[in-house]
Amino acid sequence: MKRFAVFGNPIQHSLSPSIHQQFAEQTGISISYQKILAPTDGFAAAAADFIQQGGSGFNITVPFKLDAFQLAHQHSAYAKIAGAVNTIKIQGADIIGENTDGTGLVSDLMENLELELNAKTILILGAGGATRGILLPLLEQNPKRLMVANRNASKALELSEDFSKYGKTCGFGLEKIKNEPVDIIINATSASLDNQMPAIADGCAAGAVCYDLMYGKQTPFMNWAKAHGARVISDGLGMLVGQAAASFEFWTGKKPDAQAVIQNLKP
Ligand code: NDP
Repeated sequence: MKRFAVFGNPIQHSLSPSIHQQFAEQTGISISYQKILAPTDGFAAAAADFIQQGGSGFNITVPFKLDAFQLAHQHSAYAKIAGAVNTIKIQGADIIGENTDGTGLVSDLMENLELELNAKTILILGAGGATRGILLPLLEQNPKRLMVANRNASKALELSEDFSKYGKTCGFGLEKIKNEPVDIIINATSASLDNQMPAIADGCAAGAVCYDLMYGKQTPFMNWAKAHGARVISDGLGMLVGQAAASFEFWTGKKPDAQAVIQNLKP
């Protein structure tokens, strides 16, 4: 039986063990998958312990994705550009780092919600770790334009400059968002965690797809999208399951059925 885990702090509410057990049943692979609460300054020691005990791989969530990047000996292209790792695979003496967050988002948008990203105008709210993880996989779908808007404008500008060689990006402050429709708005801020809505022009939601990375509750962003005429509104549950599916495939070589698990987890 292969051993997997997810490291985080806090970790008690993580859905990852349930998601991965469902993938294991679907694919007929026997695994164990545990939640590990590491002290905020103790990720490296906890991970080393798990590897020492024969762990085959693990996921990493808040606040350890940067520590996991440091731990890995090799990094995928997505992990490198994100500067963060959410999936580790142990291969002999090698520790290989991957970042599946963007793959999870793109697969939810394109496969589950059946949306086209090619030639679309995409507005991302927020310029933190999640945005850094999703930018390259989104740009690989050839959007017409990818705009990053952040409360702290200089962070958005810096991010868009870092990714400009991969596609048409620009960055600015939230107050610079025009009061006119865009195709897709992705809320990658952590405002929903505090039950807040980023302060942005209402007109951009008309007819748009509005996607909140947060999951597990109806967020202020989703309410705002509904009130201002969005065409499609989604939370980030599909992204969560999608990133887990990409991790599972990275570890086992088997692609699980994410859609079935999303349906099982929906309230
Ligand atoms: P970070 O802490 O790295 O970044 C937070 C971002 O939110 C910053 O850009 C910050 O702006 C902005 N922000 C926070 N509060 C507000 C507010 N009230 N109004 C406007 N902007 C605000 O967080 P992450 O990037 O790691 O995570 C963002 C969200 O994505 C979280 O809710 C997380 O749970 C979710 N997530 C979901 C995943 C999934 O699988 N569904 C995967 C990964 C993340 P500033 O720079 O100005 O402070």
